[in-house]
Amino acid sequence: MDINYQALADKYGTPFYLYDFDHIQNRYTTLKDAFAGKKSLINYAVKANSNLSVIAHLAKLGAGADCVSIGEVQRALDAGVDKYKIIFSGVGKRDDEIRAALEYDILLLNLESEAEMKRVEMVAKELGKEARISIRVNPNIDPQTHPYISTGLHENKFGVEIDMAKRMYIYANKSEYLNPVGIHFHIGSQLTNLEPIRESCGIVADLVRSLRAIKIDIKFFDVGGGIGVVYDDEVTIDATAYTQIIANETKDLDVTLLCEPGRYMVANAGAFFTRVLYEKNNESKRFVIVDGGMNDLIRPSLYDAYHRIEAVMVEGEKTPADVVGPVCESGDFFGKNVPLPPLQHNDLVVVHSAGAYGFSMASNYNTRAKSAEVALQDGKDRLIRARETYEDQIRLELPYLQK
Ligand SMILES: *Cc1c(COP(=O)(O)O)cnc(C)c1O
Repeated sequence: MDINYQALADKYGTPFYLYDFDHIQNRYTTLKDAFAGKKSLINYAVKANSNLSVIAHLAKLGAGADCVSIGEVQRALDAGVDKYKIIFSGVGKRDDEIRAALEYDILLLNLESEAEMKRVEMVAKELGKEARISIRVNPNIDPQTHPYISTGLHENKFGVEIDMAKRMYIYANKSEYLNPVGIHFHIGSQLTNLEPIRESCGIVADLVRSLRAIKIDIKFFDVGGGIGVVYDDEVTIDATAYTQIIANETKDLDVTLLCEPGRYMVANAGAFFTRVLYEKNNESKRFVIVDGGMNDLIRPSLYDAYHRIEAVMVEGEKTPADVVGPVCESGDFFGKNVPLPPLQHNDLVVVHSAGAYGFSMASNYNTRAKSAEVALQDGKDRLIRARETYEDQIRLELPYLQK
């Protein structure tokens, strides 16, 4: 497809995010088709990209949602996700969030500790409801990914150990207010190796078998998210191999298979566009200063993440440059030693694979307005979030001039 990015930049201003909705659809159907013949539900991890239009696009295709706050649950409901396809995960939930989730009657609350289970039981009792729950098990498997995005080892704060999970299931099964119907794990993000997934499935499937033996019937087997994507030259997981492994490890169980991909659905569908302000050459270093900053896309600063960066329609000999933003932090960069041609004021630069954990992690640091978001579908572009204004940013601040 021939897209005139310059024209989009003129139309929407910079910086902006662009999401290819056809690519998102492709990802969803590829994964869904890979589960063919199995009972399955794909719960899109809303935190990866929480724009209502993105969620609605996936909801229309049949996706559910994996949410980690009541705000995300509300987004999912607003975007048209079926309430019985919504799960609420996360290591800490306030009572009011638990109450709202039970009132919305969503599919599952994913629990991550015994203390949380007791809170949920108490709130369910107050409401006179039975809470459908799932317990996040920590299978103590090294996902072989970046330590910041690894979650399945005992040293991480997530989930509970197998023995504890079993005790919790026994407790929940006896409680009038808890209905333990699911089991869950999520070992990390940007996984490019299937072996940790297979091992985790095996461990958790064994737990399901031992629970069945004591008449605790688990119906939903949730393998979490984490499927890796290509940022540079990673070799990623094949969707069919992924679902086959999960199906194999659970073939005797007659469970509905759930998964919670976030990055896989949206990362490669998105790009961040920013314009060059100017170049600056220190003694031995070339800097390209752009109008986007770490407040727009924090992954390079936060995780040392790599994103491929290119100049749009600029020719010339490429030399290494650090691509940096205007934010007052040394960590405000998108890439280091990026080969780029000589650049002029207003040239357009694209940061690739920015559809996941890009805008959803954006902030107003330095009182910078959050960027616009644009969808591209069937060759047509449309604004799905307007650029913020200064007024948007100060709206909730109280009068400060004392009379
Ligand atoms: C973050 C998260 C996901 C999504 O992870 P991706 O790497 O984006 O697929 C899924 N499930 C849980 C519980 C999470 O915390």
